[in-house]
Amino acid sequence: MTIFVDMDDVLADTYGKHIELYNKEHQQDLHINQITSGEIWHNVPEIHKKSIKDHALQPGFFRNLKPFKDAIQVMEALYNKHEVYIATAATQFPNSLLEKSEWLDEHMPFITWQHRIMCGDKFILNGDLLIDDRTYNLEKFEGDTLLYNSPHNVNDTGYTRVSNWLEIAERLL
Ligand SMILES: [Mg+2]
Repeated sequence: MTIFVDMDDVLADTYGKHIELYNKEHQQDLHINQITSGEIWHNVPEIHKKSIKDHALQPGFFRNLKPFKDAIQVMEALYNKHEVYIATAATQFPNSLLEKSEWLDEHMPFITWQHRIMCGDKFILNGDLLIDDRTYNLEKFEGDTLLYNSPHNVNDTGYTRVSNWLEIAERLL
């Protein structure tokens, strides 16, 4: 199988980083358990929204995201069994391209550069499966899809969902 795997909110935890920065910037005590739906900026007061939206422009934001639990081990096993490619939007925030590449070098060095697709739109990808947290990426993909659970997609219906990397292992290994 040819499998495409998204990075943000599938391999790498952007909510955790947003909360860490937000708590520091505004002396708050927001916790991930309080975010049950929506984008992170939907969960803060109006006057703080812009600062959250600016996080992705900060140098180091994408470089310092934490990998989700079990993501590294399961990705390595998947990589050995299937044709696995990273498929990540990296042109929306241009500084993210180098940072995502460095993040992969650190956390998933087994993924060679030939298997890293740093892209814009994903519907041009041609393969068997796309794992992503954004339905706008999944809806136009011609192969199978897995929707990775995230607060911003809790109300989206019609997709097969996974909520952690052990579930992905059970399905694909
Ligand atoms: Mg994503």
